Amino acid sequence: MQRKKITILAGDGIGPEVSSWAQKVLQLIAKGFQHSFYFQHALLGHAAIAATGNPLPPETIEACKNSDAILLGAVGDPLYDNDPSIKVRPEQGLLALRKTLGLYCNLRPIKIFDELLHASSLKPEILQGADILFFRELTGGIYFGKRSRSADGSQGMDTMSYTKEEVQRIARKAFIAAGKRRGILHSIDKANVLDSSKLWRETVQEMAAEFPKVKLIHMYVDNAAMQLIRDPKQFDVVLTGNMFGDILTDEASQITGSLGMLPSASIGNQWSLFEPIHGSAPDIAGKNIANPLATILSAAMMLEFAFDMKEESQVVINTVSDVLKAGYRTADIASADTPLNMILGTQEIGEQILEELEVKLFQAVVI
Ligand code: NAD
Repeated sequence: MQRKKITILAGDGIGPEVSSWAQKVLQLIAKGFQHSFYFQHALLGHAAIAATGNPLPPETIEACKNSDAILLGAVGDPLYDNDPSIKVRPEQGLLALRKTLGLYCNLRPIKIFDELLHASSLKPEILQGADILFFRELTGGIYFGKRSRSADGSQGMDTMSYTKEEVQRIARKAFIAAGKRRGILHSIDKANVLDSSKLWRETVQEMAAEFPKVKLIHMYVDNAAMQLIRDPKQFDVVLTGNMFGDILTDEASQITGSLGMLPSASIGNQWSLFEPIHGSAPDIAGKNIANPLATILSAAMMLEFAFDMKEESQVVINTVSDVLKAGYRTADIASADTPLNMILGTQEIGEQILEELEVKLFQAVVI
């Protein structure tokens, strides 16, 4: 029996709809495994600006610091998207939160459910069985380096910099994860050109001796971009810097076909935040058509990575898989041959998930 405090940042748009189903799943897991999960809600993004004028109010930081894990729906509102001149913006809240909590490690699993093979633009035989876990460095590299513009505006400059310590702390997490999976770690860099990448490669190579069971493969980023599409099954764990990871994870997300299915985690030394990779989807907010599965799978990541509850996490993943196997779909993952009565709204697929989870938990307790 474990006690955990979870802060929910429902956010904007479809955020509250999808995060409420993830909360219900976590509540049921707690009941089934006799844990005690306590939930508290705090404001972030447009919801926070509307209520307090600040996208990340101090009470939200306090609540997050005072919890064992954080679940985020999404932030963003068309009000700001349509007017770039507005100074206080929802996404500032999320970026500031990642920095404040030191969430340097972004984890993104890329795994396709067999039932959704048709949803990708790649051939099913290339995709089937692909299962990749990305470790992207999130608080260093070129996005955080010195930048400048010449006085006449005709030149712009950005700086890409990594310290050994920054590389070591994320590489260690990636090596450990690879050791628990298939034992293959691809480290991505551009060490044939960039000094920061030379340091990256040397540092990761030095650490390999500590993890003799993990096969370390260095790969240049341009080759990695090509190999991901040519043969995604060759990858197990992939370790990248901030910008390379930004590009490669978006590319890899298309392997699974739908934004509505992809979870993620941002992890630091003390705190961790779990969220679907999609945004607030204002075009479908409040219409009961958002797919809650990415957020439910983010809750599964929370169970595994924040609470070390692997079995609980797997039950959630199996539940999602079985609901898909039964033929249920939300509109974003339906295909031309999906019968109309199998295309469910947010609430209806949420209820299917809870029903299936209840069956699994009951059996798990009896066994
Ligand atoms: P988006 O991910 O919100 O939506 C892109 C498209 O995918 C839309 O057509 C949307 O309807 C669809 N979609 C997204 N999630 C879905 C789901 N769960 N189920 C079904 N369909 C889904 O991206 P966008 O339209 O570029 O951005 C909208 C807002 O979200 C913007 O304000 C943006 O800044 C913000 N945003 C926030 C985050 C975050 O909170 N981490 C990430 C990306 C974008």
